[in-house]
Amino acid sequence: MTPFNKPYMTGDELYYIKDAVSRGKISGNGYYTKKCHSFFKEKIGFRNCLLTSSCTDALEMAAILVGIQKGDEVIMPSYTFVSTANAFVLRGAKIIFADSYQNNPNIDATAVEKLVTSKTKAIVVVHYAGVACDMDIIMDIAKKNNLFVVEDAAQAIDSFYKDKPLGSIGHLATFSFHETKNIISGEGGMLVVNDKSFDKRAEIIWEKGTNRSAFFRGETDKYSWVDVGSSFLPSDVTAAFLYAQLENLGKIQSRRKQLWNTYYNGFKILEDEGVIKLPNIPEYGSSNGHLFYIICKSKEERSALINFLKAHDVHAVFHYLSLHKSPFYVEYNEKIVLKNCDNFSNTLLRLPLFYELEGQIQKKIIELVKEFFKK
Ligand SMILES: *Cc1c(COP(=O)(O)O)cnc(C)c1O
Repeated sequence: MTPFNKPYMTGDELYYIKDAVSRGKISGNGYYTKKCHSFFKEKIGFRNCLLTSSCTDALEMAAILVGIQKGDEVIMPSYTFVSTANAFVLRGAKIIFADSYQNNPNIDATAVEKLVTSKTKAIVVVHYAGVACDMDIIMDIAKKNNLFVVEDAAQAIDSFYKDKPLGSIGHLATFSFHETKNIISGEGGMLVVNDKSFDKRAEIIWEKGTNRSAFFRGETDKYSWVDVGSSFLPSDVTAAFLYAQLENLGKIQSRRKQLWNTYYNGFKILEDEGVIKLPNIPEYGSSNGHLFYIICKSKEERSALINFLKAHDVHAVFHYLSLHKSPFYVEYNEKIVLKNCDNFSNTLLRLPLFYELEGQIQKKIIELVKEFFKK
């Protein structure tokens, strides 16, 4: 069976983990955490960042930092992972779901302004499949209405909006290094702080609500409880694993993008014939080879294709169930209709894409999909 995903180990992970262990300090904010921070600042150009135990954690930090209070409204796409919403619900926010574009699962930036009310506090965008949302429109709406923008860039490492790296545009941004993402550490994530007014507080919330980091830098003579917070830092063992991956970012990315392009070119003819639809990359965005999907004509067709592939030992999957139709949301909110989101939820199919996917196997997958649609 060709799996849907296979986490790629570069081979350097154990070397760095061993080194982390031999340094004798493996709690958070250690040697490798700092090395990863430097990598992101120097190689990607992020102004300030903090590794976290997950993207979910980073989103929870973002919700605390933007100061969500009970009843505040947060606008975000319904077509996303649960954590995008949950992090803000935990602080008492009311989630206002926006629809996707008709031809792209990302939040329809032109539909956002209508959802802004006097209670709106923030807009959370999700760069689905690592493809940029229309950030100029989003940032304009935010500026005009005095809102914060958080980029859920969980899938968006090494991807761009025009010439800006994703994660460098909103006030805050969050990344995931879960084993299903391009760069991994098992579980892992990162908060990027673009608005420097958040710098000091971000570090305190990260360190259980204490000024521990400032204390160790010798900036304060006491180490005390100064704010709310939690234990959002990963152990330095996790950071050591991540560092091995980061050193191989270029190699990993070029393979993933190559696989993405092979799928795209292989299926172009099916799109030209009107059989399926392929990812639409807007002129302001790019693909970072995070995931490859096709859009089927119906839910039934998609199920049949999944079964056909499974019968030929290929595991293909779909996601996300529209959050506005989830049991938890429906219980506490009025019914809303988001047509495009539901459409992606019903017809989008993800194909295997991972570093070690062999060219021959990928060719077979493309042929199988073509064979299915010939019938
Ligand atoms: C993977 C993902 C998350 C969650 O990341 P974790 O690191 O598992 O917490 C959040 N949002 C999106 C869009 C994701 O794809």
